[in-house]
Amino acid sequence: MKFLCVRCDEPMAFEKAEGPEEGSLAVTFACARCGARFALLTNPWETQLVRTLGVRIGGRRVPPEPMELVRGTLVQQRDPEPAPADVRAAAPVWTAEASQRLERVPEFVRPMARQAIERYATEQGYREITVRVVDEARARYMP
Ligand SMILES: [Zn+2]
Repeated sequence: MKFLCVRCDEPMAFEKAEGPEEGSLAVTFACARCGARFALLTNPWETQLVRTLGVRIGGRRVPPEPMELVRGTLVQQRDPEPAPADVRAAAPVWTAEASQRLERVPEFVRPMARQAIERYATEQGYREITVRVVDEARARYMP
């Protein structure tokens, strides 16, 4: 993803990123030619999606949450190359009903939504993702 200055047809350069504060991220871009500026503001849900995707904004990666670092370290210590079965065992299980609910999410954002919900479930210690868990995750990320 990149932004173009409509006036100059030049790519806007990343200027600075602030946050996340209260889950929101403010990213400022500027046009080197005419000096036009604009800021991109994400809500907590979008910040979460950006994190989940590991998107780099202007060369700065949105810092992972502490839990993620801990989890990454544990996996590394146990086995540098975990077998797929281990990964599956660690991920919460989706009920048929919750999966159906996910099918209603537009296809292009579904993988992001799935990861965000699985992450929420893991953080909450849920072994199973039910419709209730999906609703909870939505309530938390999309107030
Ligand atoms: Zn410009």
